[in-house]
Amino acid sequence: MLRGENHLALLTEPRRIVITTHHKPDGDALGSSLALYHWLKKRNHDVSVVLSSDFPSFLDWMPGRSDVIIYTEKSKIATELLADAEIIFCLDYSALSRTNILERFITESPAQKWMIDHHLDPEDFASLTYWDSSAAATAQLIYTFIADVIGAGQEIDADIATCLYAGIMTDTGSFRFRSTTAAVHYIIANLIEAGARNWEIHEHIYNSSTERRLKFLGYALLNCLEVIPEYNTALFAISKEDLAQFDITTGDTEGLVNYALSIKGIRLAALIIDRTELIKLSLRSIGEIPCNEICKKYFNGGGHLNASGGSSTADLASVVNTFIAILPEYKDILTK
Ligand code: 5GP
Ligand code: MN
Repeated sequence: MLRGENHLALLTEPRRIVITTHHKPDGDALGSSLALYHWLKKRNHDVSVVLSSDFPSFLDWMPGRSDVIIYTEKSKIATELLADAEIIFCLDYSALSRTNILERFITESPAQKWMIDHHLDPEDFASLTYWDSSAAATAQLIYTFIADVIGAGQEIDADIATCLYAGIMTDTGSFRFRSTTAAVHYIIANLIEAGARNWEIHEHIYNSSTERRLKFLGYALLNCLEVIPEYNTALFAISKEDLAQFDITTGDTEGLVNYALSIKGIRLAALIIDRTELIKLSLRSIGEIPCNEICKKYFNGGGHLNASGGSSTADLASVVNTFIAILPEYKDILTK
């Protein structure tokens, strides 16, 4: 869906533009932001990417990453850029609260907000919205925005293609999820043709683990994984002490939940982590099992049907018990 396309005329002259994305950016969030950054720069706009927090080290190779302004490191510049912007792009989020500390500055800025996103239930804050919840990644929408909406597909160069490839690859679990349509593969083919070195991107993202992180994976598989066969469900419960023992930060647990889902027959997987200030949940499912409904109803969160997140202020054991107590409600679809 494209709404507010009359505003696109603004781009015919150089503008002050800030690109924002959600807190703790993942591959799609950073890839989409940097791809759009490269393209807008090519078109002579005065453009910056402003993040609320740092990005994980497995993304610390993306073209343009060193130009990114991180609020926690340069708060004055970040807030000035947002206040002075004419256009603020809101990428890979459609609820302003997902920008964490930046929410206030985005809301208060007189800039037009342009949202490009694929999450469900978008808020209505943007003057231009390019939104499709069936898109595999926001990076896919950045591609179609440049190529189809603007008609500038020929301007997609190797840097833009690399960032978009990384975004689509990470949000589709390396082209595995149901969202990976033929259209996605056509776009990927175009990105490789435009100069994305696909093998190198896979290497950067998946072969960049540390020994510590790999040993934590072994520890978590042995000590923190619980399988509940009667509900085809598996969960990891990770305590503060588990994290501290291996010096684990947020990016290090990325992808862990998928190991629980990889057990034959498992249809719902949860990663429940004590992050000290909050218990964070990551849910993944197969088929019709609505992770987003579970997160919204019980854990103050949301997301996609098969991949959602939430949080709780209760203690780890209580959150695990709550999660297990919910399963009977979904017994029919879990055991189908
Ligand atoms: P992850 O499990 O990788 O943290 O998040 C998976 C998806 O769930 C994200 O892409 C996002 O759509 C959604 N999500 C994660 N955490 C939250 C949350 O606290 N609130 C909401 N509304 N959605 C979340
Ligand atoms: Mn995304």
